[in-house]
Amino acid sequence: MSEKPTTKGTSGTDEEIEGPNTTRRTFLKGSSAAAGIAALGMEGTKPANANDTDETDDENDGDDGPTNVVLFIGDGQGRAQLDLGRYLKAYREDSETFPLNVADATYNLDRHDAHGSATTFPDDPEEFVADSASTATAIATGHKTYNGAIGGVENDAGEFVPKRTVLEEARDMGYAVGLVTTARMTHATPASFASHVPDRDEEEEIAKQYVRDGGVDVLFGGARSYFLPDGRETDDADLVAEAKRNGYRYLTTESELESLDSAPALGLFSESDHLNYTLDRQDGDDTTQPGLGAMAEKAIDLLEARGGRKGFFLMVEAGRIDHAGHANYPVVAHEQLEADDVVGRLLDYAEDSHGETSVITTADHETGGLSLGSGGPYDVNFDVLDGLEASTDALVPLVEEAESREEVSSIMQEEAGIDLLDTELDELRAYNTPVAEILNHRIRLGWTSTGHTAENVPTFATGPNAEFFDGTVDNTDIAGAIRERLNGN
Ligand code: ZN
Ligand code: MG
Ligand code: ZN
Repeated sequence: MSEKPTTKGTSGTDEEIEGPNTTRRTFLKGSSAAAGIAALGMEGTKPANANDTDETDDENDGDDGPTNVVLFIGDGQGRAQLDLGRYLKAYREDSETFPLNVADATYNLDRHDAHGSATTFPDDPEEFVADSASTATAIATGHKTYNGAIGGVENDAGEFVPKRTVLEEARDMGYAVGLVTTARMTHATPASFASHVPDRDEEEEIAKQYVRDGGVDVLFGGARSYFLPDGRETDDADLVAEAKRNGYRYLTTESELESLDSAPALGLFSESDHLNYTLDRQDGDDTTQPGLGAMAEKAIDLLEARGGRKGFFLMVEAGRIDHAGHANYPVVAHEQLEADDVVGRLLDYAEDSHGETSVITTADHETGGLSLGSGGPYDVNFDVLDGLEASTDALVPLVEEAESREEVSSIMQEEAGIDLLDTELDELRAYNTPVAEILNHRIRLGWTSTGHTAENVPTFATGPNAEFFDGTVDNTDIAGAIRERLNGN
């Protein structure tokens, strides 16, 4: 298992191969003590909260054992999103003692060894607030760039210049590599790790680069139409067939994911858009879509086997926190809870794994300008939030199709757990179903934007040299930190 099969791409792109020019400090600066411990193969680098009693685990030779780096990106996961998930989780665990039980509820994001924040701003001539492309490119390559750029920057002549990503470097060093997302596979965040295009909208080109150049061992996400002739507009390439010829397993359902036992694998679990919001995946009719946790755990299984003694690099994206933020949907809380569940599984793996696993958890930017509390009253109604049975995406069509006030009333009672006031019923009937507005008002969630905001994002890490992430870092420094780990530091 130490040798990888030769189905990987050859990466024949003409990218500039150079280090990041915007990294402001190196990963090891200020952490030489921890580096020394790691070099001696001592166990002091294990997470402080790992209570591993199995002696053999700890005797893994740090120099020879696999190195794994898992990067988790909550798209749009700002401070308020993160805290909303924390409080909803505590409310669910014990609504009687809530909120005094918050300290007793396990919020996995809090389990990381290091806690800090990262900048988000792009290098853009016109915009200060980042999009998902410039931020993911900063994290993946170490280069600030303009909004919309995927895996590259613009030079003084106005030309797009591709930059090497940490995933590509890991792949070329012999690591197994993977990308997992709840968004479209070709969406900006995953795309920035394994493709290079001047405009994030070139999703058909991104799909092509994944298959023809990428050599990514595991690709799990949404929107298979970008890979199939019927769905493609720029050409009629059958990228699924090409991937299969390159040795990829191709899968489209949760049950196929469960039985998948080898990589490379291309899993595209929705037709033409993102995976559903988690509430609709759990309770909706379409149960063929896997959860992010199932995808991430399968990816780790496959990459661990494929990476052998070298190890693996995996990026996992909770892509729909962002979409709930754009739409100002309260289900941002449920997306955040799924993210926390996944982070918990990643940290469990890091604590149990042979070899050394780093987990770096961050966001690309905040979305929506979410605030917990709005309009004046000093309250947030977690009972209403917890009562939601479906996302607003699923609710709106139901309400629109309803033929009477009574029907609207019963839909909102069953799916959203609230008894509508007469005035709210009037609003719903008169203003083209402002379902989210009514829910936000009831819960007391405030939103200042339907776009992104510019504040720094919470950033965490566990594993060797995690303390680099105590404090504030530039988002380009995340690439530097990953490079250091991949290089054995
Ligand atoms: Zn984003
Ligand atoms: Mg994204
Ligand atoms: Zn967004």
